[in-house]
Amino acid sequence: MEDRVTLAQALAFLRETVALRAQEIDQSIDAMRDALAAMCDQGLMALKRPEAYGGPDMPESEFRVFQVESARASGAFAFLQTQHQSAVALMSRSDNEDLKREYLPKMASGERLVGIGFSQLRRPGEPIMRAEERDGSYVLNGHVPWCTGFSFYPEFLIGAQLPDGRALFAVVPLVSQPGVVVSEPMKLAAMETAQTVTIDFDNFVVPAEKVAFIREPGWIQNNDRINVALQGQFAVGCARAALDVIAENRDRRSTEFLVSSYEALKVQVDRAQDLLEGFVGVTSEESTPARLAARVEAINVMQRCAFAAVASSSGAANYLSHPAQRILRESLVFTVSAQTGPVMEGTLSRLT
Ligand SMILES: Cc1cc2nc3c(=O)[nH]c(=O)nc-3n(C[C@H](O)[C@H](O)[C@H](O)COP(=O)(O)OP(=O)(O)OC[C@H]3O[C@@H](n4cnc5c(N)ncnc54)[C@H](O)[C@@H]3O)c2cc1C
Repeated sequence: MEDRVTLAQALAFLRETVALRAQEIDQSIDAMRDALAAMCDQGLMALKRPEAYGGPDMPESEFRVFQVESARASGAFAFLQTQHQSAVALMSRSDNEDLKREYLPKMASGERLVGIGFSQLRRPGEPIMRAEERDGSYVLNGHVPWCTGFSFYPEFLIGAQLPDGRALFAVVPLVSQPGVVVSEPMKLAAMETAQTVTIDFDNFVVPAEKVAFIREPGWIQNNDRINVALQGQFAVGCARAALDVIAENRDRRSTEFLVSSYEALKVQVDRAQDLLEGFVGVTSEESTPARLAARVEAINVMQRCAFAAVASSSGAANYLSHPAQRILRESLVFTVSAQTGPVMEGTLSRLT
């Protein structure tokens, strides 16, 4: 059994191994690979894994702190590792005991690494990724528009719609092979080293043993409603990274308005984080508008902090080696990741 990991250990790892190399991780796939390997070596890749499969079953409030600090250390690294952490959390809720026994014990050390690809379930209209039952197995056809972790994760948890509107979730390859075509990694403005691809399936057969679960029609909309505030932690982490840059500029240039700008933004970031923390474990329907507002607030304060980091760094912010422009680019992804219609509407309404 792996040593039990703690939040303190995870935070020390982020500070000592990730934050110091954030610029390199942003630009180099090898640096990203090294950081991920180090996280695997420390057994930190399955923080939400239940005790029965090795733990540490990190309490939700601690896990949220980890998410904030991961995005503060490096947005690209946070984004890559969170795909696998999400797969762990989702697979832990599977009824397929054999699958859980096969995967979960090996997911903290990275012996098994699994991405996720189910954002296509959010799209209205004809499903673009379909599954059909055949003789107890499932045949997959269609397109996954986003899957992060190519070349790091050999497999991913796919979401595909069944003819009756339910969604099948199964572990499938993230490597081209008969019936599976993985695209070249996308050229992206931000987080390119996390290697995001599209995947096309053509009559690919998934055996029942790889099926994690089948969810009722509308599951993703309900899940997005329940979890609407959760992604906000990444925005807060990105805002904190921007504050770190502003603080450095404040200490370097003795200008009163940098002191007051930092203080004013910090109060708002603290408030946004407190607001999100207040909703940990809250999933009621009545609280949805308030939780949505908290997510939108986190996105908005992140956007303002990211631009403030650029302004306070002046021309140097344009160097590819400068953290301010990296953080601004990372804020692009955290503006839209797991975006739903209401999140888009709220984000735009704050900007307009
Ligand atoms: C760099 C990057 C990496 C990513 N990696 C992953 C990954 O690894 N795994 C993963 O699952 N996802 C991933 N995503 C997807 C991400 O979560 C999506 O950006 C998000 O789900 C929004 O979907 P979309 O960008 O495809 O936009 P859209 O399909 O346009 O959807 C945006 C929202 O608007 C709503 N909407 C769209 N059209 C309409 C309409 N006509 N009427 C009403 N509502 C509408 C949709 O329901 C959805 O909620 C990644 C995204 C990026 C940018």
